[in-house]
Amino acid sequence: MGITLENVSYIYQNGTPFASSALSDVSLTIEDGSYTAVIGHTGSGKSTILQLLNGLLVPTEGSVKVFNTLITPTSVNKEIRQIRKQVGLVFQFAENQIFEETVLKDVAFGPQNFGISSEEAEAIAREKLAMVGIDSSLFERSPFELSGGQMRRVAIAGILAMEPSILVLDEPTAGLDPVGRKELMALFKKLHQDGITIVLVTHLMDDVAEFADQVYVMEKGKLVKSGKPSLVFQDIEFMENVQLGVPRITRFAYKLVKRGLSFKQLPIRIEEFKEFING
Ligand code: ADP
Ligand code: MG
Repeated sequence: MGITLENVSYIYQNGTPFASSALSDVSLTIEDGSYTAVIGHTGSGKSTILQLLNGLLVPTEGSVKVFNTLITPTSVNKEIRQIRKQVGLVFQFAENQIFEETVLKDVAFGPQNFGISSEEAEAIAREKLAMVGIDSSLFERSPFELSGGQMRRVAIAGILAMEPSILVLDEPTAGLDPVGRKELMALFKKLHQDGITIVLVTHLMDDVAEFADQVYVMEKGKLVKSGKPSLVFQDIEFMENVQLGVPRITRFAYKLVKRGLSFKQLPIRIEEFKEFING
């Protein structure tokens, strides 16, 4: 199952003088149960890929298979609606999508829109808000009175309220302080352990190393490298050429290599380095 992109190209405003190519001939798979990172410099096509994963965009060429549904350039909206529920997309700066007058209503909006009674939708909303760490004293408040970090959590709860089996996250910790970032990353880890497939766009290589089991590297609309983070980060020069770099500990170990130390494989996490030190 999972999601497969096959030879996908995407052109924004295709057929107009403003046409701009965002993806060209991308093939990749999001395995069920995986924690997949998509990385790449600004403008490399990451957000475009994410929007193809839940049918928000339809490929200009090629196909996207989401579970058993095949999305092709001629697919129409009604074939895709169900997919939006199963593949939850959290936009970058998701708090900008909030619009309801109370926190609880905002989170309950999605399930209600899919035909669930308002009582039931509110029960789901309470559960998801608790999960993202929003205190019940805030449920009846206007979301616009909350801090930016809290608003982001409310928006994430709104996506979780659809009970997606795949959660797609576009730079979900951008702009948060270190504590807020840590807490959110811990939440995604827990959701993953509970069986939700995670797709994460991030510019933090340390997070890729710590959480992801598969990584896709994008450059200028093309998929240029993929594999397990422990392997992808061995190629330091390549990762620097695409302006991404490697985890901090990998860079540190690489410096030691230049001074004559040798590793079977460069560590990508602190724990691996500690194991090496302790022999
Ligand atoms: P990333 O998320 O990696 O920064 P995007 O997928 O947002 O990259 O963008 C890929 C390319 O498509 C960029 O060149 C960008 O300028 C272009 N692009 C993105 N969104 C639009 C849009 N709505 N209209 C026209 N071009 C766009
Ligand atoms: Mg983006």
